[in-house]
Amino acid sequence: MLVIEMDCKIIYIVGDGRSGSTLLENVLRNQNNTINVGECFRFWERYYRNETICGCNKLIGNCELWTGVDANLRNTFGDDYDSKKVEQSIKKFTTYKYQKHFNEFEVSEQLKDLIITFYSSIAHISGANIIIDSSKSPGWAILLSRFIPENVLFIHLERELASVADSWKKKVVLPEYVLSQRYMPVKSDLNIIRTWTRVKVMGRRLKETNNYIFLRYEDLVNNFEAVINHVQLKYGLEIFSELKWRGSHSIAGNPVRDQMLGKDIIITDKKSKLERLNKKQVMLFRLWEWGCNLFLR
Ligand SMILES: [Zn+2]
Repeated sequence: MLVIEMDCKIIYIVGDGRSGSTLLENVLRNQNNTINVGECFRFWERYYRNETICGCNKLIGNCELWTGVDANLRNTFGDDYDSKKVEQSIKKFTTYKYQKHFNEFEVSEQLKDLIITFYSSIAHISGANIIIDSSKSPGWAILLSRFIPENVLFIHLERELASVADSWKKKVVLPEYVLSQRYMPVKSDLNIIRTWTRVKVMGRRLKETNNYIFLRYEDLVNNFEAVINHVQLKYGLEIFSELKWRGSHSIAGNPVRDQMLGKDIIITDKKSKLERLNKKQVMLFRLWEWGCNLFLR
């Protein structure tokens, strides 16, 4: 069996939804030899169903990158490659329901080889040596930190809970579905708190790796240059001084729309007005966040 050597880096954004990862991933894309792949852990679900479009605007089954990755996986693993089985086995790591048992799951060598081949294929086919992965899932991040600790640079992005909550109350169309209109779920208060807290707690486990940066979204937009300089220095990156919206091969997540391509990225520190929340909710979310920060120092 041929397993390709892992000779690229992955910048992995961990965080809750609605936390500003689209902005961060597109800022990081402003380097030579980078590629944005959005929530690429969804490959096994999205590619084989072929109902969504890639960030390059083609139906995912027609995108050269993902078609190439599929071909490489088949060539490498032959009859052992079963995309349905892979989808099932990675669910254990990416679905919250399982995550409290995370340490009990056997991580097979075969899954490790598969993941290395997956990321290496992305790098080889695209010619990039930095893959910007905004999968966000802390479970997938922990899995990568076990398999390829030397190759992954983690950025744990956290946004104020009340702003995240306000954003979850908005009805948003999933941009990658073109054949039918699908919406992101509008989440309940309890669900919002649960997910935000899980991401916070699990994301912090990546501190044990040497490649971990905790970033508050509010600091990113209010103090952009200092924060980006810190990230560059720590990870040895060379981000262009002129930031533009560039193309991607995003699987899920927010693609850069055609009309934005090539335009400047403008950083604004607009505060969320929290207009979809009532006073009690704002208080609840603020109190919860304050309590979490007290316990999780
Ligand atoms: Zn594509």
